[in-house]
Amino acid sequence: MSASVETAANAARTAPAAVIVAIDGPSGTGKSSTSKAVAARLGLSYLDTGAQYRAMTWWMISNGVDVRDGAAVATAATKPVIISGTDPAAPTITVDGVDAAGPIRTQEVTSQVSAVSAVPEVRTIVTELQRSIAAAAERGIVVEGRDIGTTVLPDADLKIFLTASPEARAARRSGELTGREATDVAATREALIKRDAADSSRKTSPLAKADDAVEVDTSDLTLEQVIECVVTLVEEKRAAR
Ligand code: C5P
Repeated sequence: MSASVETAANAARTAPAAVIVAIDGPSGTGKSSTSKAVAARLGLSYLDTGAQYRAMTWWMISNGVDVRDGAAVATAATKPVIISGTDPAAPTITVDGVDAAGPIRTQEVTSQVSAVSAVPEVRTIVTELQRSIAAAAERGIVVEGRDIGTTVLPDADLKIFLTASPEARAARRSGELTGREATDVAATREALIKRDAADSSRKTSPLAKADDAVEVDTSDLTLEQVIECVVTLVEEKRAAR
């Protein structure tokens, strides 16, 4: 065996095969913090699929598309160029080359994203984008969202479904907000419940737990405990291969 062939063979033996981890659940369950930390710990890429739906929504609002008009949203959905950077230490998102990380987190976008993400044409486009990003991740990827285990990556190596009580979720979400929004936990709770209800009841790939997903209730766990739990599950999967 030549030296270079031998080196490649050794690398293939020692490098762990790419692993795909799907983390789904409603907002405020610790999905983003957990997904980013697990990806960083295991040297995997990271994809925030909610950010992509938010980016699509921001583009619709910025371009005067009425998000209540499903047909208009469907027609416009092919236009924005959404690019996600998948480094868990510094994830990025651009729309038509413009940094969208700030604008996609505004209340205006949050209150309208469920209407945009319910449009089947939007989901088809964004789902294809997500699959191509996952396929390109050489060492593997942690993908967080609502329908990753059920629809986007049904063959994922590990599927996690995070849950938490409405109280725990509202408290966490208001802790993330700033200014006037931060003080109103009750309003945050109501908005979360409304968004979950819309995301869970839409016809096309609703928020749902895959049959083979591991459910983790994060209400009484620290973030570090949740991360530890998911890292252990990924390592068990890898060892079982
Ligand atoms: O995770 P985040 O709260 O940023 O997601 C924003 C919205 O994007 C969700 O409320 C949902 O409408 C949509 N979404 C989705 N499918 C995903 C991820 C997010 O429909 N996989």
